[in-house]
Amino acid sequence: MTQIADRLRAILETLPEGVRLAAVSKFHPVEELMQAYDAGQRIFAESRVQELAGKVDAMPKDVEWHFIGPLQTNKVKYIAPFISMIHSVSSMRLLDEISRQALKVGRTIPILLEVFIADEETKSGFSPEELPTVLESVLARGPESGIQIAGLMGMATFTDDREQIRREFHMLSTLYKEMKELFFPDCANFCELSMGMSGDYNLAIEEGSTIVRIGTTIFGERRY
Ligand SMILES: *Cc1c(COP(=O)(O)O)cnc(C)c1O
Repeated sequence: MTQIADRLRAILETLPEGVRLAAVSKFHPVEELMQAYDAGQRIFAESRVQELAGKVDAMPKDVEWHFIGPLQTNKVKYIAPFISMIHSVSSMRLLDEISRQALKVGRTIPILLEVFIADEETKSGFSPEELPTVLESVLARGPESGIQIAGLMGMATFTDDREQIRREFHMLSTLYKEMKELFFPDCANFCELSMGMSGDYNLAIEEGSTIVRIGTTIFGERRY
């Protein structure tokens, strides 16, 4: 068994039921993705459109591709035909473009609204305060909008302070439950909370994550 397969299995063994793993394969070659694939992994997450497009062609067809990085509106059209979930929807402009491109190809694309929870200027997303307005306006468009809001996504501050990370995840989790109650009370679709990476996924799971996005712990350090 390969090292990648070993590490993957070690993570899967610790994931509670109901928590899915998105294997973050950005900057890693297809050979390494295939080692995870052969060990059973089917959800792969990428953060650059061009790199993703190349890997889609090279990998088996039953892979579920997730997009997790900053997404330029002019590139949405390249991933709209096949992407299974876009985690990083951080502006109304991007959301509108995803909706437009999804309708063009006759799809409904599941998306997550990225929420800004960190105390760093570099991370993007909607503020917790504006989230209700965003949801209201999207839901007002009705079911034929080409997008399905499947939940929320967030990234904690890059810090060694575990309590701070926990507080940020807790805040996102609370927000998720509030939004679910307010806007999706009888709807099974708003059911994903994407939080947790290699360094903090255990905390994220304790705070209610349903999808963890793990790269380094599976594939090793990225060579940029
Ligand atoms: C790269 C990336 C990850 C994975 O980070 P690791 O620390 O390598 O597990 C998770 N989420 C997002 C949004 C990323 O860009």
